[in-house]
Amino acid sequence: MEKKWVYLFEEVEGAEKHAGGTWDGVRGLLGGKGANLAEMMRIGVPVPPGFTVTTEACNAYLASGGKFPEELWEQEIAALKIIEEKTGKAFGDAANPLLVSCRSGAKFSMPGMMDTVLNIGLNDETAQGMVALTGDERFVYDAYRRLVQMFGSVVMGVPDDLFEEVITEARMKAGAETDAELDAQAWKEVTREFRSICRRQKGYDFPRDPFEQLRLATEAVFKSWNGKRAVDYRNAAGIAHDLGTAVSIVTMVFGNMGDDSATGVAMTRNGSTGERQIEGDYLTNAQGEDVVAGIRLTKDICELKKEMPAAYAEFDEVARRLENHYREMQDVEFTIEKNKLWMLQTRDGKRTAQAAVRIAVDMAEEGLISREDAVIRVTPEQVDFFLHPQFDRKAVAAAKASGGFLGRGLNVSPGAACGVVALDADLAEKWSKDGKDVIMVRPETKPDDVHGMLASKGILTSRGGRTSHAALVARQFGKPAVVGLSELMIDMNRRQIRIKDELIHEGDMISIDGNVGELYLGKLTTTVPDIRDPWLIKLLSWADEFKTLGVWTNADYPKDALRAREYGAEGIGLCRSEHMFFEPERLPYVLKMIMTDLPIERREALEAVLPFQREDFAGLFRAMDGLPVIIRLLDPPLHEFLPNHVSLRRDLSDIKIRLQHADSLEKIDELLQQFKEKEKLLKRADSLHEANPMLGMRGVRLGILVPEITTMQVRAIFEAACIVAKEGVEVYPEVMIPLTAHVNELKVQRQRLEEEARQVMTEKGRMIDYKFGTMIELPRAALTADQIAEYAEFFSYGTNDLTQTTYGISRDDAEAGFLIEYIEKGILPDNPFATIDEDGVGQLMKIGIEKGRSVRPDLECGICGEHGGDPASIAICHKLGLNYVSCSPFRVPVARLAAARAAIMEKRGNL
Ligand code: ADP
Ligand code: MG
Ligand code: MG
Repeated sequence: MEKKWVYLFEEVEGAEKHAGGTWDGVRGLLGGKGANLAEMMRIGVPVPPGFTVTTEACNAYLASGGKFPEELWEQEIAALKIIEEKTGKAFGDAANPLLVSCRSGAKFSMPGMMDTVLNIGLNDETAQGMVALTGDERFVYDAYRRLVQMFGSVVMGVPDDLFEEVITEARMKAGAETDAELDAQAWKEVTREFRSICRRQKGYDFPRDPFEQLRLATEAVFKSWNGKRAVDYRNAAGIAHDLGTAVSIVTMVFGNMGDDSATGVAMTRNGSTGERQIEGDYLTNAQGEDVVAGIRLTKDICELKKEMPAAYAEFDEVARRLENHYREMQDVEFTIEKNKLWMLQTRDGKRTAQAAVRIAVDMAEEGLISREDAVIRVTPEQVDFFLHPQFDRKAVAAAKASGGFLGRGLNVSPGAACGVVALDADLAEKWSKDGKDVIMVRPETKPDDVHGMLASKGILTSRGGRTSHAALVARQFGKPAVVGLSELMIDMNRRQIRIKDELIHEGDMISIDGNVGELYLGKLTTTVPDIRDPWLIKLLSWADEFKTLGVWTNADYPKDALRAREYGAEGIGLCRSEHMFFEPERLPYVLKMIMTDLPIERREALEAVLPFQREDFAGLFRAMDGLPVIIRLLDPPLHEFLPNHVSLRRDLSDIKIRLQHADSLEKIDELLQQFKEKEKLLKRADSLHEANPMLGMRGVRLGILVPEITTMQVRAIFEAACIVAKEGVEVYPEVMIPLTAHVNELKVQRQRLEEEARQVMTEKGRMIDYKFGTMIELPRAALTADQIAEYAEFFSYGTNDLTQTTYGISRDDAEAGFLIEYIEKGILPDNPFATIDEDGVGQLMKIGIEKGRSVRPDLECGICGEHGGDPASIAICHKLGLNYVSCSPFRVPVARLAAARAAIMEKRGNL
C-alpha cells in the first residue's frame, strides 16, 4: 500500500488510527495546528476546508536532502481537487479562483517560529477573476501584494524591509497615514513593484503558476524546521529536533472584505488572572497576520459584541464548546467573512502561574476536570512563582510620590524584576554572564531575541499586545514582562530610552512589575508575597489529600518555623543547632569553649551557652506545637567558629608594627595582651587545622571526642521540652546525630546522651516522648543500615553529603569547576546536587531504607538535603517510600504539590 502523506481535515480518524490511536500521536503526525483544525471539524466547529501534509513527509523530505517523497505531490493535488469540489472554486481558475494558505504546525506550538503564506493561488489572471467576482479591486490587490510579500520573504528569502519601504513610500505618495487609506491603484502598483523586487533580488520571477506557488511554499515550511530561529527555540524550550513540522493547506477566508468582516485572536479565559472571561483583540476589515503583528491598533473583543452581535454570539458559543471539548483554556484565531464566522486555529492557551492555578481549580469546580487533574496540571514551578519577590508596597508608594513611577503598559507576565537596561539581546546576554541583573528593553521582540530574554530578569517593550511574541515567550519562561508601554521612546543610536521627562541610559537601573505592568526608575525593594491566593490555597489543600509523603521543613529559628508552618509544613526535619553559636552574644563563650583543654573551663563556657540554646529550642517547640522537631547536634568542624588563619596572621603582623610605634607603656601592655590572645587563637587554629575538614573532625566524631558540647545540647533540648510541655505545648523532639559511619559511634553517643536526657526529665519531673536517630550521609551508613537501625528510631538522609561522598567530589569545587562541563558534555545528565542521582545515591538510599526497616519496620525515614525541595527528587523520594521530605520554608508549597503529583502519577502508572 502506498504511503499516505496527506490527510483531509475530515480524515482525522484515519490519522488517529495511523498514529496508534492516541491524540498525542495525531498531534505528532499532523502537528498541533493540523490536528486541532481536523478535530474542530469533527466536533462541528466551522473550519474552512483543508488538508494537512504530515510531519512524516517533512522528515522524509529533510532526510532525502530536499526531495519530495514519492506520491506526496500527487496526493496534495488530489486533496486540492476535493477542496475545489467542496468550495465550488478551482485552484488557478481565473473565472472562480480558489485561494489557500500554507501554514506550518509542529507537534508543540512554537510561537512565530515558522511562517505562513496567505492568499496562495493569486496571479494577474486570477486576480482579475477575483475582481470580477467581488467587485472589490482594492481588496484583491491588497491580498495579492500580501501574497507576493509573504512568498517573497518566507519562500524566496527576500529581506522584508525592502517590501515595507515600498509601502511606506506609497503611503507618503498618497498622503495616507495608514495602509487602510491606500486605494486599489496604489496596491496594484505596490504589487508590481514587489514582483520586480523579487526578480531583482533573486534573479527569477515570483511564480505565476499557483501550483508552483503551493509546491514551493510547502517546501519552504519543511525547510524552516531547520532554520536557526526554530532550532534556537527548540533548544530553549527542550523540544526534540526530530519531530518535523506538518503543513496545513487551508481555504482562504477573508476578514478584509469590508466592515462586516474581521479577524482576531482570543483566549477563552484571561491568560493573566485566569478569570473566566474571553480575552482578545480583533480588527475590522483586516487579514489574519495584522492582529498578531501588532502594527495596527487592535480593538478589545468586547467591542465585537456590539459591532457584530450575531457573529460574536456564535463565537462565544464556539469558545465554550472548544473549552468543554478540550477541557482546557483555548487560544483561538478566527476570521469573520461577511458576518460568517470561521475558526482558523485553536490550541491550549499560554498563561501566567496565577492563571494556571485559578483555571485548574475553577475547571475542577465546574466539573470539567477532576481534582487530581487540577493538581497534575499545575506545575511545581508555577507554585514556586507565588513565592517570588514582589515590590514592597511602601517602596512602590514612595516611588509614586517622588516621581519614580514612569508609566504603565500591559501586565503580560507576572513578577517583579530590577535590572540594568540592555537595549539588545546580545548585550543582555553578555551582561547577565558578567553577573549583572538585566532588563531587556526593546520596541518589540522577535525570535532572534530569545537568548537575550532568557538571560534577562525581565522584559520591557514599547509595542505589542497580550499575544505578542514578547508576552508569549515571557510567560513561557516565567520572566516578568511589561509590553506595549507606548510612551517609551527607544533611541538605539544614542543607546538610551526616554519616558515622561526621564532620560535613562543603557546600563541604568530600572524596575518593572509584571503583575500590574508598571515601570519604575531605579531599584525598588522587593518583598516576598504571602501565598494567600485563594485558588492556590484550595489547590494545595487538594494536593494534601492526594500526597502520601509528609512535607517537613529545614528551620533553625522560630520565625522560619512559623512561616513554614503557615506554608503547610508538618514538622521540622532539620534544625542545625550550631547556627545559633555564631550569634554575637554567644560567640565569645563558644570561642572560650574551643580554646581550652581543661574540661572544667569547657563546661563553664558551655554552661553560659546553655540558656541561649534552651531558649532557641523552646521557641522552635512552641512554633511547632503538636509537630515533630528534629534537632541535629553539632556538626561542623570547630575551626569554623574561629577567625580564619590568614586574617589572624595579618592581625598579628599588624600588632607588631603598631608595637614599634607605641608611645606609652599602657599602649604597649594593651598591644602585647592582644598579641598574646591572637597568638593563642592562631595556635589553636593551627592545631585544629585539617587538610580536608569536611572529612575530618566533625559530626558524631566531634560529639565523641568533645562530649561536653553534645551533652549540653541534649540538656538544652530536654530542659526546653519540659518547660514548654509545662506551658501546655505538645512537644515531640527528635535528637539527631550527624555523619554516623559505624554503628558503634551511635551506640556510644546514644548511651551517653540518653543518660543526660533521662537525668533532665527526672530533675524536671516530666517524661517527654522523644526519638533518637541519625543522619545517613555516608555510604557506609547506608550499607550497614540494619546494624544502625538497632540504635536509631529514625533516619534522615543528608543527601548533600551523601552525594559528595558517593561521588567522591566536593560540591563547591565541582560546581565552580568541572561540573558544568560534565553536564554540557552530557557526561552527567543533571547536577547531582540539584536532583538526586537516582542510580547511585538513590540506590544507597534504597538499600538503607530496606535494611533499616528489616530490623525496625516502623523506622521513620526522611530526607533533609536540599534535594527535599526539588520536584524531581521528591518523586524519587516518593518511590523510595520515605515518610517525608524536608525542605526550606519557601519550598514547602512546591513540595506539597510535587508530592501529590508523584502520588497521582504513581496511581496512574506514570511515575
Ligand atoms: P502562526 O502559527 O504564526 O499563528 P498561522 O498559520 O496561524 O501562523 O497564520 C497566520 C495568520 O494568518 C493567523 O492570523 C491566521 O489566522 C491567518 N490565516 C491562516 N490561514 C488562513 C486562512 N486560510 N484564511 C484566513 N486567515 C488565515
Ligand atoms: Mg496562528
Ligand atoms: Mg551533612
